[in-house]
Amino acid sequence: MLFKDVTMIGENEEIIRGAYVGVKGKFIEYVGTEAPREDFGRVHEGRGRLLMPGFYNAHAHSPMTLLRGYGENLRLHEWLHDRMFPFEAKLYGEAVYWGTLLAMAESMRFGVVSTTDMYDFGEESVKAVLESGLKVNFGRPVICFGDEDIYGLKSFREAMALLEGLNGAGDGRVVIDLSLHAEYTSTEKTVRQLAEARLEKGAGMHVHVAETEQETRGCAERHGGKTPVAYLAGLGLFEGRTTAAHCVWLTEEDMGILAEKGVDVATCPVSNMKLASGVCDVPALLAKGVNVAIGTDGVASNNSLNYIEEMKFFALANKSAKGDPTLISPAEAVRAATLAGARSQGRRDCGLIKVGYRADLAVLDISAPNMRPVHNLLNNVVYSASGGDVLLTMADGAVVYEKGEYLTLDVERVAFEAEKATEKILGELS
Ligand SMILES: [Zn+2]
Repeated sequence: MLFKDVTMIGENEEIIRGAYVGVKGKFIEYVGTEAPREDFGRVHEGRGRLLMPGFYNAHAHSPMTLLRGYGENLRLHEWLHDRMFPFEAKLYGEAVYWGTLLAMAESMRFGVVSTTDMYDFGEESVKAVLESGLKVNFGRPVICFGDEDIYGLKSFREAMALLEGLNGAGDGRVVIDLSLHAEYTSTEKTVRQLAEARLEKGAGMHVHVAETEQETRGCAERHGGKTPVAYLAGLGLFEGRTTAAHCVWLTEEDMGILAEKGVDVATCPVSNMKLASGVCDVPALLAKGVNVAIGTDGVASNNSLNYIEEMKFFALANKSAKGDPTLISPAEAVRAATLAGARSQGRRDCGLIKVGYRADLAVLDISAPNMRPVHNLLNNVVYSASGGDVLLTMADGAVVYEKGEYLTLDVERVAFEAEKATEKILGELS
């Protein structure tokens, strides 16, 4: 496909007008302001459109689409124990499959090409992502409160089976990470053994870190005054590619450790605001050189995968929390949503419109009334655009969504089956 005469976002978030971008197979093979001589097949007329890298959702629990709007106006503890856990205890593979497909439909509608996921029923969830044409870094979280070794745990065995069976599936669209749910749902032995296992396998790590003040205070009580970051780092969990989700309650030293270990932070601004957990200090992390990406978290605490909205909250949350409107530039927000997310997933050839990179792309309508006039197009992308302005989403060179059409899945059936699964579970709970 050739994107012709399109406005695009360049490698340094610069706006390039009148661009031509040629895609062949899974890769971007031409970028320039002159028409290429080579034939790239279908021509996409780009006038009035913005071509940008697709979005990389750096922390999510995709099947939680089934719980959209199920627990509202509750404190985190009640939200989790009275609503989420009882529902999740009734989940089954097929429900997770349809819930994930619903999340993939919503993701592609909003320009998201890849998701860092943490959930149960990995086989069904990954199957759904593969069918959708999108990408996933999937981690089956390990939770353990007892004294046993992790090797006998069902969760760990499932994680290892996924790693052996599905890592690299779909020509690399699927990456299997290992995952620790969190400090407060595991023992020291669990963390140490999981850290060793991931080093041995060379796998990535996905973990919730310092989401709430309660978690951080509890960690200090449990572990001799240590913060979650210091505790997990001390047990070796951050050796290798690691996504630390949330990171709201950090000390100066914590930020130093994250920078030194090269940990990628996935901040979840909407979820943190909705559950009143606080705001991740993104400017301080960026100043220390930490790679900060953006996650939606599960839809149950968001309640959507509208990633353009997430970018806007990413910028607004820090301005508001710090009382400083100069914090977080639109370029920083776009970078966090695209390249930083791809990097956090270990996808070194993703996240930029550049020759040799994978064609993970989104097209936005910039002729719509909400996008005009243009003083600075990046400002409009972060603050004026809405998810509905996404016209096309492409992953690995394949168009998966275009102008309301879902090309890889039957969206009506997906929504129907997801609702049916939700009703079945609710029926068992009543
Ligand atoms: Zn989460």
